[in-house]
Amino acid sequence: MTVLVTGASRGIGREIALLFAKKGYQVAANYCRSGPEMEKLVQEAEHQGFTILPVRADLADHEAVKRMVQEVENNFGAVDVLVNNAGIALQKLVQDTTWEEWRNVFAINVDGMFSCTQAVLPGMIRRQKGRIINLSSMWGVTGGSCEVAYSASKAAVIGFTKALAKEAGPSGITVNCIAPGVIATQMNQRLSKEDLEALREETPLMKIGSVEDVAEAAFFLASEKAGFITGQVLQVNGGIVI
Ligand code: NDP
Repeated sequence: MTVLVTGASRGIGREIALLFAKKGYQVAANYCRSGPEMEKLVQEAEHQGFTILPVRADLADHEAVKRMVQEVENNFGAVDVLVNNAGIALQKLVQDTTWEEWRNVFAINVDGMFSCTQAVLPGMIRRQKGRIINLSSMWGVTGGSCEVAYSASKAAVIGFTKALAKEAGPSGITVNCIAPGVIATQMNQRLSKEDLEALREETPLMKIGSVEDVAEAAFFLASEKAGFITGQVLQVNGGIVI
């Protein structure tokens, strides 16, 4: 079984790549700017006796994504599981958000998901099976003040997931998304200690989530056990949004 995980050089994507590798998958791990971090992941996997194939592509570049998926298929054959995890955040008032910033958030969070999905779909349709797992966010469900561009892009991920689930279901492909709450990664390092503590207190389970919490949910959605689940938003958020 082959999985392609985007944005796997750190954070949630890195953990998903490692978990799938440990579970016996052939893992292709996408990255863009963080070459040294990806090199560390490849080495860590090797120490643990697994092989991870690093594949570089800027997901905002549609042609580069096509070449990346071709590279994965040349090495491993068709992709069984695609995890559209790569994403960027933007914390700004909407009136301070530049057109370029708005476009960049959508280019990576939405266009990248579209390009990767479109590139792997022919292989999945041919084999009448596949799993697509998209990373949304609690802000895509509920909207976040000062995160309008990010929230809108993550709401688009949910719309994409639900529509594609209907379109691809007859081909034996499930499409779901995970909407994490606050997870301890570099993405949240911009938040002040006070803001992070406030979010922790707002979370009914009174803690910040871990990358493992999200990776386990992704692994479940990819498994045979989740075969009758499609078009869903799995909220891995400690109850902060219900
Ligand atoms: P990080 O910021 O830690 O990592 C983001 C990853 O995305 C990196 O591996 C980065 O790779 C990759 N990436 C960014 N731009 C591109 C690009 N143009 N092409 C390819 N890869 C790119 O994020 P998290 O691990 O925290 O988040 C992962 C996903 O989960 C995101 O979609 C995020 O929106 C979502 N999420 C996270 C939450 C959290 O609290 N952390 C909460 C809700 C959702 P590189 O550096 O190599 O470019």
